[in-house]
Amino acid sequence: MSDCLFCKIAAGDIPCNKVFEDDDFIAFHDINPKAPVHVLVIPKQHLASLNDANDQDIGLLGSLMDSTRKIAKALGVDDPGYRVIINVGKGGGQEVFHIHVHILGGKTLPF
Ligand code: AMP
Ligand code: ZN
Repeated sequence: MSDCLFCKIAAGDIPCNKVFEDDDFIAFHDINPKAPVHVLVIPKQHLASLNDANDQDIGLLGSLMDSTRKIAKALGVDDPGYRVIINVGKGGGQEVFHIHVHILGGKTLPF
């Protein structure tokens, strides 16, 4: 997707504060952090939102969660814990239509 911000970040065309990268995923600090640790995990493959996933994306979604778990551990927020958020669609607060997982941690989060 040539006009997608996160595709451009994944391609290295727009810089990010990267914390992890492998063949399929990249994770970087959110530019407007809502917690001491606020990292976004994105697949390099464009998928607009969870609403747009289908059965062929089950593996990708599983790997996205597994990468999120590993990145949270590497960030040191696994104990006492962290929050994972996926905003879905405009009504869910999604602003960037390239699926991403928010990892929020580093403090006790309000409900
Ligand atoms: P969402 O509302 O779930 O679509 O979240 C999009 C997130 O992307 C927001 O928390 C933004 O602060 C973050 N964001 C937008 N542009 C950038 C950027 N260039 N680098 C890092 N994070 C960004
Ligand atoms: Zn994209």
